[in-house]
Formats: sequence, C-alpha cells, structure tokens
Amino acid sequence: MEREIHITLRLSLATGKVNLNEIVYRLKEIGDAVKLEVLKKILMSYDDLIAERLSKTKVYTSKDRKGLGRHIRKSEGGFCRGRKVRKRGYRQESRNISTVFGGLKLPVRVVECCRCAARYSPLLAALGLEPYARKERNFEHEVIESVIDTNYRRLIDGRSIDISLGGIHNIVVGSDIGEIFQETVSTEGLSAIMADGTGVKQKGGNKGELRAVIGITKGGCVKPLGCFVNTPWPEVEQSIKSRIKETEQYKIPFVYDGEPGLDDFLADVAESQRCTWHGPRGLYHSLWQDGLKKKGSKPHTDNIKQLIGVELPEGDFEILKEEDKAQVRNKYETSKADIQKLIKVFYAKGYKHGATYLEKLSTRLFTNIELWLETGVIAPKTTSLLERVFREIGRRLKRIAWGWSDSAVTNISKMIMIRQYSRDQWEKYWKKKLGIRGYFNIQIASVQIA
Ligand SMILES: [Zn+2]
Repeated sequence: MEREIHITLRLSLATGKVNLNEIVYRLKEIGDAVKLEVLKKILMSYDDLIAERLSKTKVYTSKDRKGLGRHIRKSEGGFCRGRKVRKRGYRQESRNISTVFGGLKLPVRVVECCRCAARYSPLLAALGLEPYARKERNFEHEVIESVIDTNYRRLIDGRSIDISLGGIHNIVVGSDIGEIFQETVSTEGLSAIMADGTGVKQKGGNKGELRAVIGITKGGCVKPLGCFVNTPWPEVEQSIKSRIKETEQYKIPFVYDGEPGLDDFLADVAESQRCTWHGPRGLYHSLWQDGLKKKGSKPHTDNIKQLIGVELPEGDFEILKEEDKAQVRNKYETSKADIQKLIKVFYAKGYKHGATYLEKLSTRLFTNIELWLETGVIAPKTTSLLERVFREIGRRLKRIAWGWSDSAVTNISKMIMIRQYSRDQWEKYWKKKLGIRGYFNIQIASVQIA
C-alpha cells in the first residue's frame, strides 16, 4: 500500500547574513526530531490501517487480516480465533519507546474482540513489540556499536536517548550472542589455534580473568573461537572442542605462552607450540630462581633466542629449492641438539629451575617448523595476534565495563571480537535480529519551497 507524508518546515533566513555552515548546522539539529515525528505518524497510520481491516470484515477478507489481531482469549486463556473487533479509542497512556532518533511517545489504539470481548492493541503485536519492550532493536544495535567504538557518550549527548551504564549492561547481558556464534570450525582452514588469559577489573575491585581462544586462518586472519570469564581451562577446552571439526591430515600448532593448565590443551586436534617470544623470558625467570642475576643469565637467554629463531624462507613451499628446505632442516636439527646440550650444562651447574624449564619447553618449540617441513604451511609461533586481540578488548572494557558481571564481560568481549574479525557475520546477525526483509520502503518524492 502506498501513501504520502507531507511535512511542513518553517524557516527564517537573514538575507545577506547567513552562511552555509549555519544552515547545515540547524538542519542537522532537527534531523532526529523530524524522523521521530515521521515515525510517529507512520505508526499511527499503521495502527489505523490495522483497526480498519479488523473492524470492517465485509470489506476485507480473512486473507487481508492475515497475521493481524492475534490475542489471548479474555477468559480461559489461550489464543482466541476471533478476528473481528470494535474500536475502543486509545490507551490512556502513550507507549514510551526508546529509538535511535530519541524517545517516542506513541498513542496506541485499543480494540475489543467481537467474539471474546478481550481488549487489546493489535498494533503492538504487528510491530513485533514484546509486551514490556521499551526499546526498538536498532537502538540496541546502535548502543552496542557505540560501546564497541568507545564513543557511547557521543551517542547519548545531544539526543534524547535515555540510557545509563546500567541500561547498557542489561542490553549486553540479555544478548543471545553466546548461543548464536557456535558454528563448527574445521581445522583444515586454520594454521594454528591460540589461547591465553588476561586480567579484568570486576565488581568491588576484584580481579577476574578473561580467557580467549582464537584460530588463525591460513591467510593469517583471526577467527574468534571463544571468550570466557573466570572459567577453568578444562571447561574452556570442552566448549572449544565441541566446535572444532578435526581433519585427519595433520595436527595444527596450538600456540600458548606457557600458561599452566594449557600444556595439553586440545591435544586431540593440535600440537603444542610454546610462544617463541615468551620462551627466553620464561628462562630468565627460571634462572633467577636458581640465583642468577640478569648478568649471569643473559648469555643463556640470548643463546636460546638464537636457537629458537629458525626463520622460514618466504615464498611458495612448492617452488622452493630443496636446498632451502635442507637449510631449515639443518638449523632446526642443530638447534634441537644444542638445546639438549644446554639442558645438560644447566644440570651440571645446578640450575635446576632453568633445566626443567628448558626441558619442558624444548619439546614444544619447533612445532611450526616441523609442520612447515612436512606440509609447507606457515603457522604462527608467537601469541602476538592474540595479545593484540586482548589489547583491543581491554581498551574498550576499561572505558565501560569495569564492575560488570562475568556474563556481561563475556558477552561484550565476544561482540568486540566478532565485530572486529567476523564483520560479515556480525552484519548478518543484526540484519536477522532486526527482521529487515524488504516489507517497508520510503523515499523522498519531492521537496518544494513555499
Ligand atoms: Zn477474542
């Protein structure tokens, strides 16, 4: 059905004095107010159309009334099949709804069912508004986007949007983000999986731990796999495992920085790879426990940095010369042997901590090299990508989410990750949530000045 809306704007203009900026400035100012008024008119006329169809059963067939007038029977409960109504004026109170344009005060019609005499407002059901909903979903969407962009203040200031930090918290807690993004991920498209944790400030100044697991695609992009707050690693592992589809081919590296509890994480699908950046630092700490000062341990940590740093040649594995591959294999084998020698030296010198640290490290240092020699896949060997993800999440949490509950921090972290790294899925998620299906269109037909 096509209709027209006529808007009358009144303007005064000081000829010879006004500049372009002032005109644009004022127009910008009334933008949301105009849209809010238009929205109100559209909704009220929609309300009229619905009431027309439901009350004039001689004009409109039951097909015209399809999807309209669903209501609960007055007595006995359950849905009434009656679709003929009498108009009964408007509700005493307008319905207040927060929209992206500001607060809307919407007068809402009441009708009476001719069959069961129940009084109800058919507009609300037609709009998909739940009985106590006070916000439309675009509003939620914009609030969440602005929280993620750390500019929610700008969203609120200058508009009649009424949302507190508590309100944002409730939107985030009520989100279904956790249940939606659970599709299966095949290890075939991944070059590695990483997991780590970072501290977050929570209620009462308590420190919580945010844990995240990501995949790295063969193209080097981040694929979010999960976010958890104050969750034990075995539980995290269970949840991630249920989403991962193994491939028989080979095991991809699981990169971590030595966090206790991650040594055998996802052992069925991945081969542990200790972060090569954290390796020398960990050794430094272990040698410190053995009584070595920085001066004494530096030659050893420098040495290990050298041994770990097996560089992979760039370019396509398939067209690499055999001698290039042999070079890598040589360096890898000597490095491995040298580390074993170093462990013996540490034991001989009585550096027990250093020796056991290196022993544990040594079996998980070259997974990416072994994978490359076997398959040509270049896998990451540090957790730096995940650390970047944590920095991005942390920067946003600091602004808004301190003092938030576990589920709120979990949800907002998921949102930040998915929006940042799975943009397409994020857009699709919201479009579906908003129910954008092409049932409403509006264009400017003409603008004339009187
Ligand atoms: Zn009824």
